[in-house]
Formats: sequence, structure tokens, C-alpha cells
Amino acid sequence: MKKILILTAGFGEGEDVAAWNLREAIEHLAPKEARIEALDLLDSSYGRFHDLLRHTFQAAVNRAPRLWHGFYQLLGAAQVVEGQIDGLARLRDSLRDTLNGMKPDVVVLTCPIYGFLIGEIYRDGRARDFTLISLATDAVVNDSPWPRTAGDFFAVTNEPAARALAAAGVPEEKIRVFGFPVQLPFAQCEKRIARPDLARGGRARILYVINGSRKKAPKLLDRLLEHREWDVTVCVGRDTGLDEMARAKAATAKDRMEVIGHTRRMPQLLLGHHAVISRAETGLVQESIAARCPMIAFRIGSGCEEGNFSLLRQANAGVSAEKPREVVDWLERAFRDEGALLSLWQKNLEPLGRADSALNLARFVLEQAATPVPAPAANLRALPAPAPSENVEAGRRLANGGAKNGRLRHIPKELLLCDLHTHTTWSDGRLSVPEIVDFYGQRDFDCLCITDHLCDPKRLLGKLVNLTGLVIPPDELAGYFEEIEREKKRAWAKYDLLLMTGVEFNKDGYTSKTSTHLLGVDLRQPIDPSLDIKKLISEIHAQGGLAIASHPHEMKSEWGRNTLYLWEHVEEYAPLLDAWEVANRDDIFNPIGLKKLPFIASSDFHKPKHIHSWKTVLYCEKEAEAIKHCIRVNRDVSLTLYRDHRFALDERKLRLPPIENAPELVEFEEPLVQRG
Ligand code: ZN
Ligand code: ZN
Repeated sequence: MKKILILTAGFGEGEDVAAWNLREAIEHLAPKEARIEALDLLDSSYGRFHDLLRHTFQAAVNRAPRLWHGFYQLLGAAQVVEGQIDGLARLRDSLRDTLNGMKPDVVVLTCPIYGFLIGEIYRDGRARDFTLISLATDAVVNDSPWPRTAGDFFAVTNEPAARALAAAGVPEEKIRVFGFPVQLPFAQCEKRIARPDLARGGRARILYVINGSRKKAPKLLDRLLEHREWDVTVCVGRDTGLDEMARAKAATAKDRMEVIGHTRRMPQLLLGHHAVISRAETGLVQESIAARCPMIAFRIGSGCEEGNFSLLRQANAGVSAEKPREVVDWLERAFRDEGALLSLWQKNLEPLGRADSALNLARFVLEQAATPVPAPAANLRALPAPAPSENVEAGRRLANGGAKNGRLRHIPKELLLCDLHTHTTWSDGRLSVPEIVDFYGQRDFDCLCITDHLCDPKRLLGKLVNLTGLVIPPDELAGYFEEIEREKKRAWAKYDLLLMTGVEFNKDGYTSKTSTHLLGVDLRQPIDPSLDIKKLISEIHAQGGLAIASHPHEMKSEWGRNTLYLWEHVEEYAPLLDAWEVANRDDIFNPIGLKKLPFIASSDFHKPKHIHSWKTVLYCEKEAEAIKHCIRVNRDVSLTLYRDHRFALDERKLRLPPIENAPELVEFEEPLVQRG
């Protein structure tokens, strides 16, 4: 009989859920061969001190990781406050007694406090006679306390978490990626997703789990019910007040709304709905990933929830909303075009979770239990290859980037200088991708989107241009995305410059009125340039990007064919586009401003001197989603003429002595050439 001890802590949602699911999976695999004990020593040792500890712990883990360094001191202080409790010593002793009494073969931790304590117990250098597996359930483990704890193995939920641990110094051979151990039914049901097919006219099914923001619930329900084409299932848990409220509403929309109380059938519910509205609590986020049921995180709390949600956001597999109206806006967008956006989210959820994670983790635990006395180093060598992870340096960068991106709420709003329309050598620009990053980075820009030209191969002009090398060669589009993706990390690490991938879709006709240039900003993957304009816009939106009309009005300053199609059809396209360029390089388009269309301004940069041109200034968090949101709602957006008077004189051939710290490249001999 193998003995397995799982140490958990009831105060995080994730720890307990993971412990419970792991236990269930081990029992499923080895009902007779293993004895499992799952204990929350924190609860039994501390009683009402537990609450205080929980706050300390959550503050330490979620808010101020550095507090961990002083964790013992902190508990010492708490001990003084409580007077009677001998703090950590008591917990350590009860853990030692448990280990001595049970003599487990394997100990699994879901809370790092135990890792510190086990380190304390074996401080004298005695060999442990059990294998210690740390199960880090946090979605993102930046600044995690785990690396500082004892442990033979660290089981994590995803690749970024693995890289963050490796970057923090945990040897790679100790790290295993299993996914979050979700309930067993996911492993069994995965193939039995039971949602109506939207493409065949099936009704949209929305699951609303009311696990926070109770006050906003009635309002959100009203808004959901306004959509007669949606079916809504509401989980009210054990809250009788909510139950009453929801049932009263259901009575008015009987055929479209179902109310359920506390349920153990969450896997089946998630598998049967197209989208779930919920708080971003660990268990439900992981279950929704396993069920490929995209989440609209309603009112994200701090700490864990941000970490959980950032996992979804970085993968473009879910969104957040603060207000009921925003929830419904997102749902409308998700279900539009036969659920194009929804399918994209579902696809992006796939790599994040593993439906059979609990079983695989359980197998690993049982294997370890079956391994005789662990001489840890020898054990390690006998194990299968570690989970793939890149080198430590890449991990560290990713970890840093992750930390910055993962905490939207802690990023202050600031003025951001942005250029969302630029060209590189991938099309007719002069600078390569690394060069343009350095160029904008050195000038302290905050956000840069590279938007090289891509032509519609179905149009004759497009066909011709494709031969010139002045647009992205269609078969090299993937390479274009890859190169910018690589540069993103460097831009952020070196310059705090947020780099985005974009495309300028050129649909050139024989006249200006049949020509369109459309910017797709912050794209995740290539889009077929031969799609018609509306389809292009919806593809851009499906990827979470912005669709922006570039130089939509008559340009006065330079040669270049006007592209007026969108403006000629402004009533038709205004509702579809996120913004219009109200200014492009030296031009400013008064009619666009007069029409009060949402706007940005860009340089349409092709070469260094184009830096002196109209730019967008935003006031928002320096984070991709926040930036796009700011432009979409078009609030706190302004334009600025980024110029240098000396440069302007230069351009008019009125040469002045060299300027200190001037841009290294100022060209004035050349004729002003074609623009994009
Ligand atoms: Zn253009
Ligand atoms: Zn352009």
C-alpha cells in the first residue's frame, strides 16, 4: 500500500480544488493500491488564526511577493498580535508529527508554506524518506515563492509557468508541465462537447455563474434576456436571495432561461454552453479551459484572478468586462458571423489546458510512490525528458514581460506616444524590423505597430505589385509574423516599447474611389488578403485587433494615390471600423474630424525622416489590451505633431549647423517619394 499525503490550504480557491481533483484521480487509478490523505494543516493548527494567515499569505503571494522574504518575521509579528499562538512553530510541529506518523511515500504540496516548513524540518541535513512534489496551481508564477521552497519536483499548469520557474533558478529537470488538475469528467467528456452548432442555426447558449458582483447580477440578467436569440443558464450556488431573484426573471422568459443552484455538474454545463460569464477564480478558469468554453471574466478581482485571467488574455482566449453592458457587447461580438470570434477563442484555449491533467499528474505521483527510497539525484536521471522549456534567459524575459502584462490593474495610466502605422523592409520601408525597433525605442516611444503592405492577389494591381518586392511576399507572411514576434521581447526588455504586429491591407483599384488601405493593428496570425473588406474587418476583430482606415481622405502634401473608398462609403463602414486616420504623416483630414469619427494619427513611416509627422497620444495603461480599448472607445485620445523645427528648415534646404542629439538620419537630397 503506497501512502500519499496531499497538503493543501483552504484559503486559495485553486489549492483546494487541485488537491481534491488529484485525490479523486489517484483513487480512480489505484483504488486499492494507494492510501491518500489530504490535509489542511493550516486550518487545524491555527483555527481562527487561519484567517489572519490567509490575509498575510495572499498579500505575500499576490500583492507583494517580496514580503515572502520576511514571511517568518511577519508571522512572528502576527504571533505577538494574537498573543497565545506560537506562530509557525506550531504548524511546523504538527507537520512533523503528521510525517512521522504517516510515513508517506510521496508528499504533494499545493501551498508553498509547507515547502518552507519541510525545509525547516530537514534543516539538519537528514535525508527525506519521501518524494516531495510541489503543485503550483497559479496560472502565472512570476515572483512565486515556490522556487525558494524545498521540492524534488515542481508540477505546473502551463509552459509560461514552467519558464518562469526555470528563470527563477529551479533546475529544468525538476519541472513538469501537467496542466491544472481539472475534474475527471473532463477527461471523459472531452469528445462529447454538447453545444448547438451555430453555423447550422443552433441557438447560442450562455452560462452565467454568479460567484461575485451579486449587486450587478440582476442588471446583467436583464441585458442578457434582451437577446431573444440567446439561451441563458444561471448558476446561483447556495445563495437563496439570488435564487429568488433569478427565478423571478426566469418566469418572464421561461423558454430561454434556466436557473440552477449548487451543482456538481460544472463540467457538463461548461461542455454544453458556448461561453461562460464568471469571476476569474482558478478552478472555474481551468475548467472552462478544459471544456474549451471561453470565459468573459466579469469584474476581475486582484491577485490570483488577475493571474488567471492574464493567462486567457495573453492567449487571446477570453476577455474581461467591468459592466453588464460590456459583457453583452462582447457576447454580441463573439456570436456575430456564426461565432467567428468565439471559434477563435476556442481554438486558442486548446493549448492552455489539458483535460486529462489530473490523471497524468496522478500517474506521476503513483510512479514516484512506487520508486523505492528516493536518492533524488539518481531518480531524476531515470525520469523521462523534462517538459520543453526554452533557455533560462528567454524564460526570464518572458517572466518579466508576463509580470508587466499580467497585472493590468497595477499599471498606472500614463501618456503614451504611439505610432500604429509603419513600414519596414518587409515591404517598401527602409529600416528592418530590428532597426525600426531601435529607432523608435531610442526616441522613447511607448507603442509601435508595424504594418507592412499586403496586396490583394485577386486584384490585377495587387498581382503586379506582388512582383515588385514592395509588399510582403504572400508566401512569407508567416515569417513576417514570426520576426515581429521575436522582436517584441527585445523591444520590451530594452526600451519598454510595446511592439505590435499589424498589416496594411492594400486593395488598390484603378481610381482613388475604388482604392482602400485598411490597417489591422495587433494581429495574432496572418489573414488572407483576398477576403473582401468586410470579411477582413471581421477577421481582424476576431483576433482582437483594431481595424483602422488609413489615409481615408485626400492627401495634399506628397505624391501618392488617394484611397477614398471607405470615406465614400462612410455610413456603411463607420459602424464596422474601430478608427480612422484623422492625420497621416503631414496631412490632416479635416472632414474626418468634422464627422466626429473615432480617430488616430500616424506617420505612415517608411524612412527615418518620416518620424517627423502626426502621432497619436493616448492616456491609458501601457498594455496592448488597454491601448486598443482606449482607441475603440476613443476617449483620452489626442494627436500631436511630432516635429523638430530645425528639421523642417532642413527639409526646406535651409541648412543649419548639426543639431545635438539629432536623429542620425536626416535626408534632404532625395525627392519625396511614393508613400503607402
Ligand atoms: Zn497606405
Ligand atoms: Zn502605409
